[in-house]
Amino acid sequence: MSDLRVISYGDVVRLLPMPDCIDLVERALATTARGGAVIPLRMAVWQPDRTGMIGLMPGVLDEPKSLGLKVVSIFPGNHGTGRDSHQGVVMLFDTRHGEPLCVIDAASITAIRTAAASGVATRALARPDAGDLAILGAGVQGASHLAAMRAVRTLRRVRIWSRNTEHARAFAAQHGVEATPTARAAVEGADLICTCTAAREPILEGAWLAPGAHINAVGACFAIARELDTAAVARARLIVDRLESALNEAGDFLIPKREGAFGDDHIAGELGDVLLGKLPGRRAPDEITLFKSLGIAVEDLAAAHHIYERALATNAGMVVPL
Ligand code: NDP
Repeated sequence: MSDLRVISYGDVVRLLPMPDCIDLVERALATTARGGAVIPLRMAVWQPDRTGMIGLMPGVLDEPKSLGLKVVSIFPGNHGTGRDSHQGVVMLFDTRHGEPLCVIDAASITAIRTAAASGVATRALARPDAGDLAILGAGVQGASHLAAMRAVRTLRRVRIWSRNTEHARAFAAQHGVEATPTARAAVEGADLICTCTAAREPILEGAWLAPGAHINAVGACFAIARELDTAAVARARLIVDRLESALNEAGDFLIPKREGAFGDDHIAGELGDVLLGKLPGRRAPDEITLFKSLGIAVEDLAAAHHIYERALATNAGMVVPL
């Protein structure tokens, strides 16, 4: 018999401020790079009509010591309906005896931890003076990426583009930024670019990139989808969250590779190794750097561990006896 704490979307938003999450994810990625994590490739199971899938992301992390998994459904068609396109739960288990400890809303964790990972990458790879931000995609990740970029760089200008111009305009009005009619108009001259769309074909072209730009490529988490064209990836120093994931899941890398544009050695390495100083990040002010994010379980575990500890300390959430 044990007590299970159930923690809601609202609690997560309150207990996981973006700057804290950036630090937590940084520590988790560094721990992973030191060998302090076990994270298999995620399992994704699609409905036969491909309208939605369920993904399983289990993991074990040494620092902070945690054992758990995320179960997340992805229904891209939910966008614009009031439902999140990513929904699910993150569960943590006791690391000594295995009791389930908590069930936490995963939509909120995913929104925050994904942008936090891009915050870590931006802090490590972007030019220190970068501050002209383009966000492509006015959905959940677009908004959380604005918060993450604001946390790690002083922004001089922010442009938002989205496929649906009304969504871009609404985002611009809500966040006090500038909407552009085309992706190109958002990206030209930008030194920070976040691609946060569910596009399957490129929405960002290499020819538009300014020297010295840093890109966080966040959408396109499947081998058959991409947001960046071949030139954008070929021009950039490519850093990934996890090599095994990139080699299996990153269409942004795999599609140009299949075209013969480059081989596996185009991936410079993992962000965790940059954080540990084992791999150079940005090597010159005019180098284009690209962080390809796929999302890994240690990010969810680190966030969930923090939320659970804070929930215990403040008696947040609802306790259910099992
Ligand atoms: P939302 O459903 O909230 O938003 C989807 C966004 O994608 C909207 O801005 C929409 O634009 C845009 N979009 C949809 N289809 C297309 C298309 N064919 N071409 C161009 N734009 C399109 O999703 P999220 O913000 O939660 O997620 C965005 C992406 O990030 C998804 O691909 C998701 O799977 C991925 N993701 C990645 C994670 C990671 O760890 N790397 C974690 C979580 C999500 P509009 O409204 O203008 O049509």
